[in-house]
Amino acid sequence: QFVSAVQMKGTEPDKEVAAPVPEAERRRQSAQEVRRSLPIFPYRDELVAAIARHQILVIEGETGSGKTTQIPQYLHEEGYTRQGLKIGITQPRRVAAMSVAARVAVEMGTKLGNEVGYSIRFEDCTSERTVLKYMTDGMLLREFLTEPDLGSYSVIMVDEAHERTLHTDVLFGLIKDIARFRPQLKVLVASATLDTQRFSAFFDQAPVFRIPGRRFPVDIYYTKAPEADYLEACVVSVLQIHVTQPPGDILVFLTGQVPLQEEIEACVELLQERCRRLGSRLAELLVLPIYANLPSDMQARIFEPTPPGARKVVVATNIAETSVTIDGIVYVLDPGFCKQKSYSARTGMESLVVTPCSRASANQRAGRAGRVAPGKCFRLYTAWAFQHELEETPVPEIQRADLGSLVLLLKSLGINDLIHFDFLDPPPHETLVLALEQLYALGALNHLGELTTVLGALGGTGMVVVGPMGELTTVLGALGGTGMVVVGPMGELTTVLGALGGTGMVVVGPMGELTTLGRRMAELPVEPMLAKMILASEQYGCTEEVLTVAAMLSVNNAIFYRPKDKVLHADSARLGFHVPGGDHLVLLNVYNQWVASGHSLQWCYEHFVQARSLRRARDVREQLEGLMERVEVAPSSCAGDYGPVRKAITAGFFYHTARLTRGGYRTVKHQQTVFIHPNSSLFEEQPRWVLYHELVFTTKEFMRQVIEIDSGWLLEVAPHYYQAKELEDASARKMPKKVGKSREELG
Ligand code: ADP
Ligand code: MG
Repeated sequence: QFVSAVQMKGTEPDKEVAAPVPEAERRRQSAQEVRRSLPIFPYRDELVAAIARHQILVIEGETGSGKTTQIPQYLHEEGYTRQGLKIGITQPRRVAAMSVAARVAVEMGTKLGNEVGYSIRFEDCTSERTVLKYMTDGMLLREFLTEPDLGSYSVIMVDEAHERTLHTDVLFGLIKDIARFRPQLKVLVASATLDTQRFSAFFDQAPVFRIPGRRFPVDIYYTKAPEADYLEACVVSVLQIHVTQPPGDILVFLTGQVPLQEEIEACVELLQERCRRLGSRLAELLVLPIYANLPSDMQARIFEPTPPGARKVVVATNIAETSVTIDGIVYVLDPGFCKQKSYSARTGMESLVVTPCSRASANQRAGRAGRVAPGKCFRLYTAWAFQHELEETPVPEIQRADLGSLVLLLKSLGINDLIHFDFLDPPPHETLVLALEQLYALGALNHLGELTTVLGALGGTGMVVVGPMGELTTVLGALGGTGMVVVGPMGELTTVLGALGGTGMVVVGPMGELTTLGRRMAELPVEPMLAKMILASEQYGCTEEVLTVAAMLSVNNAIFYRPKDKVLHADSARLGFHVPGGDHLVLLNVYNQWVASGHSLQWCYEHFVQARSLRRARDVREQLEGLMERVEVAPSSCAGDYGPVRKAITAGFFYHTARLTRGGYRTVKHQQTVFIHPNSSLFEEQPRWVLYHELVFTTKEFMRQVIEIDSGWLLEVAPHYYQAKELEDASARKMPKKVGKSREELG
């Protein structure tokens, strides 16, 4: 199946320290001994000295060398946490923040949440005593809202910087800024061996500290021909490795939970089933998944040593690429895909798409095989594809994401000029402008973007057609938020203005400032549309219901359980939850019934509902409820009348609407063809007007979590965005079947 092609060079390991230690033996070593055996340890003093000398330091080191777990401890030992100051360490992923904090707590001999804690969205495991705080990059970003100078931190370590997540990229700019007026603050940018020169250049040529890695050579094998079904190819290859290769654990990279084909779970099941069938002819194969939503006790299992005689297979998402390190891996299986967000500024739609990974990722993945001994990496694609079809490096998230949340957050930090913000790589202009427009339509900004931003953003693409000054203001005023101003670059504009009358000052204001609503939206740690939906529920008298809907939406697709052997039962249980109106209301119904059952596990079991997801929804709900007071929303309930709930949802998600035409569903604004997801409660019904929570592309563009709406609501909740004539039904004048009260009845 595979052809041997190349050998990835290893750096010759230091024989004494790096000889592979059997797991059992290693377990017995104290945590302190393990610490001393890490590649970073010999450089401890040198590193500490470099940090003392420089305010900003870029630290580069192979994954597993000890950056994340050790550096914060070194600095703690060196007194950086005296006087009640903290060390903050950011991680792009929730799981990594949690598992790394847990590990460091063990090493420091303290309970997680005491000296060492973590903070991720909707979950704060820290206390007054916490001095090492691991957190997601998004959480640190939110901390700027309450503490703009991060005054309670002595050190900020932006970890896994090479991941280039949206939040990490923005942190770079904000932290660079505060470092200027807080000379005592130490800034560390830690990265795998990628891109460090760019980080150094961005931080005014900050020095780079390299931790020499130890890596054994890894042989790389490619397939001769492309694989049609990579999941099946994975399963077959794992079994082949298990049967033919010497001991050593296997790491498989899949793309996480894709709807319809939950790859990781499917792969785990297939492997377990085939092993069962092969029975005692095989040595024991332990199959363990790891992905972001996996419960933490399950996650912990991947770190347990493999029992003698057995072999472990870890089926992982990208998370195992650099953020968590699993010891004992000798074989890596890489199908060459990852799941990536992509965003179209034209249609304003964000989707998760399975895309080929980059060459840099593929090499990181391969590297995981060479940590404890020489390893092998099996790539489920051809050598030609590696050279010609994979991109060199991944595209930074800021260039392929919706920027709505980010713009809202930056605005509430008082950063109005987003064009001149210090970005490592700037976001695309169209995306930025679209984010401003969307926030304006949501009522979060008081003017159509800021004119200056728009002018800058268009950077020379347009033409300026303006009369004298007075006229310009009139024109802009007349556009009053509905249109796009298409103009050339600022410089050109002033020249033109000069030529036209020579006065030279353009005063258009107030420009794109946060409204009170926008400020309140920014307080809620959810995306702007969801925030708007929650805040709108006040006016419709259904905050209790909408908070539940918001919480259930945020545990995303992990509510219903559908075991292979009980598909019929599971589906009929699911049907039992149906209520007229659509999926959001089904979710609300599930939650309410669960509460009525007294949060019963038995009830969950009988109804094929995942208890863990419901508990998480309850936590999220409690957090959001706690914030309601801060944004001055009084609790209210519509007591079983779901009309108001759907209206509140529409007030937040009016962008996400589609209408049934003769050719199927088309999105209202962009006439894009979309489909109701087969799991939706409205799949059979196919109402004329629908609103969806999100679009997912699998085989087609599916709308997921769909409700039926009245097109009239759109004019009511988004008068800046919709015009009556776009909402006319040419084919049939009749309104959709009424479910709940109509807007006239509600007044
Ligand atoms: P880096 O950040 O440089 O990639 P880490 O500090 O994350 O390295 O990891 C250093 C070492 O700590 C790993 O090689 C591994 O041996 C150990 N380690 C990290 N996390 C865990 C964990 N959750 N359980 C057990 N060991 C861990
Ligand atoms: Mg790390």
